[in-house]
Amino acid sequence: MTKKIHTFLHGVASDGSEISRSERNEYERTMARNATALVDTVKGNDVVILHDPQSTGLVSALHAHGTHVIWRSHVGLDQPNDIARAAWDMLRPYLDEAEAYVFSRRNYVWEGLDDSRVHIIPPSIDAFTAKNRDLTNDEVAHILSVARVFEDGKATADIDGSARPVHVERKVHMSGSPIPPEVPIVVQVSRWDRLKDPLGVLDGFVRHIAPKTDGYLVLAGPAATSVRDDPEQPEVLAELETRRTGLPPAIRDRVRIAQLPMEDEGENAIVVNALQRHATVVVQKSLAEGFGLTVAEAMWKARPVVASRVGGIEDQIESGRSGILIEPDDLERFGSEVAALLEDRARAEHLGTEAKARVTREFLTPRHLIKQGRLVLSLIE
Ligand code: UDP
Repeated sequence: MTKKIHTFLHGVASDGSEISRSERNEYERTMARNATALVDTVKGNDVVILHDPQSTGLVSALHAHGTHVIWRSHVGLDQPNDIARAAWDMLRPYLDEAEAYVFSRRNYVWEGLDDSRVHIIPPSIDAFTAKNRDLTNDEVAHILSVARVFEDGKATADIDGSARPVHVERKVHMSGSPIPPEVPIVVQVSRWDRLKDPLGVLDGFVRHIAPKTDGYLVLAGPAATSVRDDPEQPEVLAELETRRTGLPPAIRDRVRIAQLPMEDEGENAIVVNALQRHATVVVQKSLAEGFGLTVAEAMWKARPVVASRVGGIEDQIESGRSGILIEPDDLERFGSEVAALLEDRARAEHLGTEAKARVTREFLTPRHLIKQGRLVLSLIE
């Protein structure tokens, strides 16, 4: 149900069907249960920030409890369609009592909401978390060895030097053998979701990148076993595995599907961090995207990024300057841009430097917190 809401808000009816009365009843029952648990932990006059569409069903109970409710969403589409409007119509009544609606982009604001409560605050990334903190080249290599992304596995890695040291010991589940540390790699990190188009990335790599370069492709995402709330992800993963298995051996050997361990959040995050830092080129070939945190994360790490001109990605990358934007259905262009960056390292480095500067200016936590802090103050005052 919540997955359906998510894809509807992106303007896509994933299985072509509508949200039924019984699904809606189930949603309301689940939200009522969750709200009961939640009101025990908050007091009247607290400010609660509810994140994303799935949480709309909590607004009313929290409001009745005397809390100030801010609801925020970074999901949306550039041009609304009837599918998205149907989801808005369904969810809007739940939002009546929220005091503020925060959208990450003006284009995502739903029709029919009280405009005086609407605020635009783009998301941000935290430079000091395991996902984004600085790592030396040695630390990157060590983490990727422990995780068995690289050959020559080391047993464990302890990464200190910040408030929260991270211990790495679990292995990435890789289709195919570990990759040699010295080969250039193209990386996409995403949930196994059709809207992230991992199959398109694979096809683009096979047709337009592998024949022209010596690069490898790593598609990374959560371990299938860890995904309990999304029936689509195991399907997409299975399709990818089948597609990979059917490739001619010489190309198959350069494609990896990497399922990252999810048991420990810090460990998962630092493996993502190391993969992004090690990437020669990062791609995000989404068909739809809310903001696209993976893009900001890669840009922060001074990586050259080739990504689709959709949603919040367009707010982040100034094409040709701090990365490259492509049309999401143009596989050939996608391939040629990535291949060109694999060959022209000076240009790749230049794009990466500009990317880092852009994220530093626009998408780090302080800017976000100041805006959010002002909003919170305005409500409690
Ligand atoms: N992510 C992660 N581990 C994974 C796959 C993704 O930590 O195995 C993170 C990724 O680094 C990013 C977030 O999940 O921080 C995904 O956010 P994004 O806005 O890119 O896409 P969403 O999943 O919200 O559509």
